[in-house]
Amino acid sequence: MSHPSGRHFLQIPGPTNVPERVLRAMARPTIDHRGPEFARLGLELLALIKQVFKTKHSVVIFPTSGSGAWEAALVNTLSPGDKVLMFETGQFSFLWQEMAGRLGVDVTYLPGDWRHGVDADTIESKLREDREHQIKAVGVVHNETSTGVASNVAAVRKAMDRAGHPALLMVDTISSLASIDYRHDEWGVDVGIGGSQKGLMLPPGLGFNAISEKALAASKSARMPRSYWDWQAMLANNKNGLFPYTPATNLLYGLRESLAMLHEEGLDNVLRRHRRHGEATRAAVRAWRLEVLCLNPAEYSSSSTSVVLPPGQNADELRKLILEQFNMSLGNGLGRLAGKVFRIGHLGDFNDLMLAGTLSGIEMGLELAGVPHHKGGVQAALDSLAEAAKGAHADAAQVHG
Ligand SMILES: *Cc1c(COP(=O)(O)O)cnc(C)c1O
Repeated sequence: MSHPSGRHFLQIPGPTNVPERVLRAMARPTIDHRGPEFARLGLELLALIKQVFKTKHSVVIFPTSGSGAWEAALVNTLSPGDKVLMFETGQFSFLWQEMAGRLGVDVTYLPGDWRHGVDADTIESKLREDREHQIKAVGVVHNETSTGVASNVAAVRKAMDRAGHPALLMVDTISSLASIDYRHDEWGVDVGIGGSQKGLMLPPGLGFNAISEKALAASKSARMPRSYWDWQAMLANNKNGLFPYTPATNLLYGLRESLAMLHEEGLDNVLRRHRRHGEATRAAVRAWRLEVLCLNPAEYSSSSTSVVLPPGQNADELRKLILEQFNMSLGNGLGRLAGKVFRIGHLGDFNDLMLAGTLSGIEMGLELAGVPHHKGGVQAALDSLAEAAKGAHADAAQVHG
């Protein structure tokens, strides 16, 4: 097999493209994780990561994929048999509630249609019915990566407050952190769950729990068996910048670099860039006369877009063809969406021309695969990007003029 020339386009919604700066930052000798140099790194990172979650409280970092951070959130705050409310948004909410069930939690999984986000009113009425406050936690996925639907977490918080219910609020921010606005403290989230390989532009391998005071208090009496995931040992060591076991040192070098990059660009600008790329992507899909899976414009995801193919068309064959012809990986349909949709990741280290290349590969792929569509998707996206650039240019001229 000959070597494919040029760069691979990794346009799945995570893992995302790891920038050269991060790769170079990780290519350094691993140091003593109990020594003074590591302690300084640990203290620095544990302080900086709070800004990304928009919290003043503790954030812990585990060497794990995102799923481990899900488990950590559950086992630190709950006891066997506790009732938990979760909302079906797609494959990731499904997997999370399945994990909770396997751990011995009594899950009520509120049904959804995989085309809308969390319905806060349903959560409110379920909590109102629970007069004895047996429900200990509500768990929702902020950005459902399988569907490209971003739920309104603030609305869930308000619904819980209106119901006057003391349950903890746990939010999976794995594909929204540093790509879609997430406000841990302002929204009163008790456990925010993150991962390294999406908006944070790192390889897989780090998982995060942002922990409110209420969640920390709950962990003191929670009886779920836990050892590796235990927050107490982690927090005690973190006071000095250290970890209870060997941390993923080189990924932490990478995290320092990615946090510096987010800081240099400015988190608000990062979020704005993701919104712009989401809009341009949807402009392309509309011009192709294909369907965006997300039905509610207020819930469009800025980190990924799921595209529905016309009946009888196989999305996996399209993706295979695009990989072979154009060396680009697109996300597959997960769970019940297998073969029916493909997913475009537009999060992380990404810019206008990378999006233009991505959409060009898709438009050529649609043609080659014989998927019925209209031309002009790429042009529509370019127009959308140019319009946004003009707007930003005018704003800057006003500020400087
Ligand atoms: C990627 C992702 C996960 C799973 O993370 P892993 O690292 O594969 O364990 C969970 N939830 C959401 C929303 C995700 O996007």
